Formats: sequence, C-alpha cells, structure tokens
Amino acid sequence: MREELERLLEKQGYGFAGDHGGVKLCHWTKEDLKEGGRSCYKGSFYGVESHRCMQMTPVVDYCNFRCLYCWRSQDFDTSPNGRVWDDPEELFEDSVNEQQRLMSGYKGQDVTDMEKWVKANRPKHVAISLNGEPTVYPYLADFIEMCHDHDMTTMVVTNGSFPDQIRTLAEEDALPTQLYVSVDAPNEEIFEKLCVPMNGGAWDKLNETLKLVSDLDCRTVARHTLVKDWNMGHYDEYADLIEKADPDFIECKGYVYVGYSRQRMKEENMPTYSEIRQHANRLAERIPHTYEADREDSRVSLLVHPDAERRIPKAADEELDPIDVTDDVSVGVNENGAGGCGTACGCASM
Ligand code: SF4
Repeated sequence: MREELERLLEKQGYGFAGDHGGVKLCHWTKEDLKEGGRSCYKGSFYGVESHRCMQMTPVVDYCNFRCLYCWRSQDFDTSPNGRVWDDPEELFEDSVNEQQRLMSGYKGQDVTDMEKWVKANRPKHVAISLNGEPTVYPYLADFIEMCHDHDMTTMVVTNGSFPDQIRTLAEEDALPTQLYVSVDAPNEEIFEKLCVPMNGGAWDKLNETLKLVSDLDCRTVARHTLVKDWNMGHYDEYADLIEKADPDFIECKGYVYVGYSRQRMKEENMPTYSEIRQHANRLAERIPHTYEADREDSRVSLLVHPDAERRIPKAADEELDPIDVTDDVSVGVNENGAGGCGTACGCASM
C-alpha cells in the first residue's frame, strides 16, 4: 500500500491487517458498546449484534469504481495487478487482533458496558465491506470459510462487477451468510455516470452477477443507495433488475452528504426520509417483496421477499473460538499478539 494512503487511513482510525486489509470500528459498534446502546439498522432488520461486529475489508486500497456518492477517500491504487496477496489465515488473525486493539481504548470508559466489551473482543459477525472492493481478493472464499470455522457469520458487500468470484464462492461452498450486491442505477447510462467504473463492460458484469444471485444458496440483498436527482424513480427499470436477482431483501438507503462525497455531490442530493420511503413503496408495488421495516436514523427502508426469513442465523456461542481474549486486553498481548491502545473514529454505517 502506498505510504501516503496508509497515513491518511491511519488518521481516519483504520487498523491494518496483512499488507492490504483494513479494519475500522464501526460507529454502531461503538454506539452499541455503551450501557443501553443501540445496534445498527441491521440489528433491527436482521438481528446483528453491533458490538460483536467486526467491520473489515480484505482490500483497503483498491476499488474498480469511483462512485460519486462514496464517502470514502478514493485515493486508491490504480491496479491490483502484480500484487502479492496476503494469506487468508494471516489476514483473519490480523483483522481480529486489530479489532481487539481498536476496542481496547473503550475499556473502562464511564459509558462502556463492560459485559458487552468483553464479548466485543470475540467478534461473532464480520462485515466484509468498509473500503475497496472485497471480491478483488483472490482468496475471499478461504477467508470466508475461516470466519465461518470460527463460528462467525459474514456479510459481503460487492459492486457486482466480478461475477466469476461469486461463482467461485458458490462452487467452493464459501458463500457469505448474507451477500449484498449494490444496484445503484436503474440503467447503464446512469450507472456509467454515477458509479464511474474504471473498466468497460461493468454494467454487463453487474447484470451477470444479478442473474447468479437468484440461484445462490445464501441470504441475498440488493442495495440501492438513493441519490436525489440521479437515480431515484425509474421504478420499472429497477423492478426488472430485481426480477433478475430475486433477492431475499432490498434495502433502499438514502445517500448522505458526508466525507469525501462532499467534493462530488451537493447537499440537495440527499433525499428526505419520506422520499426514501416513497421510493421503496413505489418499487414494492411492482415486485413480490413487501415493505416491512425502516430506520429513520439510518435513512433506510427494507423490502422483504415473502419466502425470506429476516433473522440472521445466530453464530454458535460455544467456546470454540481460539482467540484467547481475557478482560484485560488493554494491557499485555494475547496469544495472537493483540496489544492495546485507544482509537476513536466515526463513519457512516455500511
Ligand atoms: S459494520 Fe455494518 S453490520 Fe456491523 S455494526 Fe456497523 S453497520 Fe452494523
């Protein structure tokens, strides 16, 4: 990773795993650590416990899109070619150690619920999202399997431009617990302008991924980031894309004018909460999914397929986890090498 990018990410509170992985405590993980704290909307929608969630990415420094609404820095490397990829086991262990290191700053704070804090050091859910495009990592299947072997559930968020990688996950029986595909444009013209793929053919690849999604043996989500004056409305075109993928869930999430997106978007591009709900309701009129829930603080509405089960399977709670976390992580180093320090950062949720 370029030193400049590493320094920037470090300033933003990122921890690093291997040569190209990143970990960052999610805003909601920190929120849920507090006494009486709350989970993110995926807690309300699916039952994810935010304080036990590890937000990470296997590829923090590369994405093949430059979406205008993305709040992350897009000072990415321009190509992943010729890179030496991290071993998935090393990436996994480093990620958990980094999560513990970042978590150590919250130990003993007045607002911290220490019972939750101890559990939080043994993450049970991995949100493989954060920064960069995770499906670029060639050993994603092994990494996901490793998470599942440690009794963790997983969510992967992809821009859908690498259908072969999704095929590999399916063939190797290594699909995540829940796969998100971003569907942020109703047609190719808007897609090219709003998502700015670096290579040709990305719209076709996304459509290929959507077709695959309908047959996958895992929970599936189509996520629309709604940007006013850009990609809202177009209900029939969205319905056609949804029909192709037949996902379990659809999340209609409003764009938020934060971070680096302020350099490319205007505040007026943020839809109101009622516009988001209206969009979701109008879409629901055209597809089998029904409007089931929303969360105003995350500006998101959920549509659910009639056959889908909302609760995410709970990761087993038995004491199989080899990560030996005592309630004293902030001093000393555990058997996997996690030391202690304090880091606080904020981000919009994935
Ligand atoms: S990373 Fe995602 S799933 Fe995990 S707590 Fe944050 S918003 Fe929720």
